[in-house]
Amino acid sequence: MAPTKKTSGTAASTEAVKQITYLAASLKAPRITEAAARLADHARDAGWTHEDYLAAVLEREVSARNASGARLRIRAAGFSGVKTLEDFHFDAQPAIRQQVGALASGGFLTEARNVVLLGPPGTGKTHLATALGVAAANHGHRVLFATATDWVTRLTEAHRAGRLPNELARLRRYGLIIIDEVGYLPFEQDAANLFFQLVSSRYEHASLILTSNLPFSGWGGVFGDQAVAAAMIDRIVHHADVLTLKGASYRLRGRGIESLPSIRTTTDQTES
Ligand code: ADP
Ligand code: MG
Repeated sequence: MAPTKKTSGTAASTEAVKQITYLAASLKAPRITEAAARLADHARDAGWTHEDYLAAVLEREVSARNASGARLRIRAAGFSGVKTLEDFHFDAQPAIRQQVGALASGGFLTEARNVVLLGPPGTGKTHLATALGVAAANHGHRVLFATATDWVTRLTEAHRAGRLPNELARLRRYGLIIIDEVGYLPFEQDAANLFFQLVSSRYEHASLILTSNLPFSGWGGVFGDQAVAAAMIDRIVHHADVLTLKGASYRLRGRGIESLPSIRTTTDQTES
């Protein structure tokens, strides 16, 4: 606070500031220059120790890096639209509030656990899968989002080009893969096998989030083979949280048409 103290600090630090600018640029952390300058007077005034000051400067750099890293990871994930847990109204799905709250911390990712979201169209499966993906990106995990059909297309292309093992190895470096809309379209036998390989390659290595409008008992029809479906469900569910969403479509809320199955079906086919 005392002007004399501040003046002497400024005079003495001119050389040091130049050096900080140079060193921060060498570290490819130019924000450190700005944080160091901004926090220096504050540190002197508040009587911080050298350690407090260094920690505060580095903390600014780390959180700035994390924030821009998260933005990049969210952009790279390929979400169909960015949704967050804050946007989700749990009043519409009160039964899963606690389960989702526990998943939001991202602990399931470090344990390579899976999440399965089941429920009818419009109940928020894609929203929650995306929101958990965004939370994962914010926690520093790399995320990829695509529909089951898109995953099968990617894997088929990799398989045809003879690089399926490479592709599966590359995907294992993503902490979270989201497979949306399992069950909207049935798979060919080859596609079902590729899908099974994706699930197997991640088993106990890295997490999956899957969404489906079908209960597990309906997956045999999707994969064209009860044995493949059973083996896959076994691996998915072994370490998983299964969340069941209920009720009418959120898309149709308040339109007075929740109870008309024919209208729900046509709308869901185009929007889901
Ligand atoms: P699903 O994948 O189960 O068919 P979506 O997640 O696509 O459903 O939800 C349909 C739309 O309704 C989306 O725009 C989603 O953001 C919104 N939505 C669904 N449930 C909720 C909720 N509980 N709170 C806020 N928005 C919701
Ligand atoms: Mg959906």
